[in-house]
Amino acid sequence: MSDCLFCRICEGKIAATITYRDETVIAFKDIGPKAPFHQLVIPIRHIPSLAFAQEEDAALLGKLMRVASKLAAAAGYGESGFRVVMNSGPDAGQTVPHVHLHALAGRELGWPPG
Ligand code: 5GP
Ligand code: ZN
Repeated sequence: MSDCLFCRICEGKIAATITYRDETVIAFKDIGPKAPFHQLVIPIRHIPSLAFAQEEDAALLGKLMRVASKLAAAAGYGESGFRVVMNSGPDAGQTVPHVHLHALAGRELGWPPG
C-alpha cells in the first residue's frame, strides 16, 4: 500500500535500520525506542491490524514471534527477558495501521502495561 508508512519501509522508500528480512517478514529498530532494545517485527504483506488477520495468517503471525525472540536473544536478552506487544486498534494505542509486533528489552518492564 503506497500510503502506508510500514509498507514504504518494506519497499525501501523510507529509511529504517533493518535488522532482519526474509520473503515474508522484516524487522527494524523503532524510531522512538521505549526501552534500550526496541524493534518492530512486521509482515511484508499489508494487514491493517491483528483484528483484520485471518486464519490463514496464523503461521505468519507466529513467525513474528519467532523472529522477535531470535532478535532479542541475539541482543543478549534471551534469558534476562524481553516483552512482545501488539497493539490492535485505537484504544490499545495502535498508531500505525500495519500489523507490527514490538519487541522490548533492556530495562524492567512494568506490569500491567498502561
Ligand atoms: P504502535 O503505537 O502503532 O503500536 O507502534 C508504532 C511504532 O512505530 C511506535 O513505537 C513508533 O515509534 C514507531 N514508528 C513510527 N514511525 C516510524 C518510522 O518512520 N520509523 C520507525 N523505525 N519507527 C516508526
Ligand atoms: Zn502497510
